Amino acid sequence: MSQSCIFCAIVAGTIAADVLYQDGRVVAFRDRSPQAPVHILLVTRHHFASIDDPAVPADAAACAALFAAGQAVARQVGVERNGYRLVMNHGSDGGQTVQHLHAHLLAGRSLGWPPG
Ligand code: 5GP
Ligand code: ZN
Repeated sequence: MSQSCIFCAIVAGTIAADVLYQDGRVVAFRDRSPQAPVHILLVTRHHFASIDDPAVPADAAACAALFAAGQAVARQVGVERNGYRLVMNHGSDGGQTVQHLHAHLLAGRSLGWPPG
């Protein structure tokens, strides 16, 4: 856990969020600034800085849990038929603003490609 990390605080329950799903490794909650009708963040309970964190490849269980949670949450909110996007941002060119590994689940409208 990182003391100053907002997602660690949400995982710990000290900052409120609209939590939709949680298991032993992942917590999913609605993004506070949604970019699509469905915009949910999936975060690892463990604090990794991003997908580029050197500890990520060593934690295969956390990586698998993130994928599995993505599938589970997409089905939970009923977007698996129409489709969705699961995306991670890293660094300034990637547009990352919170330095804690997370995936965005975006759905509910036709999403443009390539992203801006
Ligand atoms: P990034 O830009 O790092 O890929 O994604 C961070 C996301 O976290 C943004 O979409 C932003 O709206 C969301 N976010 C930042 N702080 C909070 C918060 O305190 N609560 C919630 N629910 N979402 C947050
Ligand atoms: Zn964190």
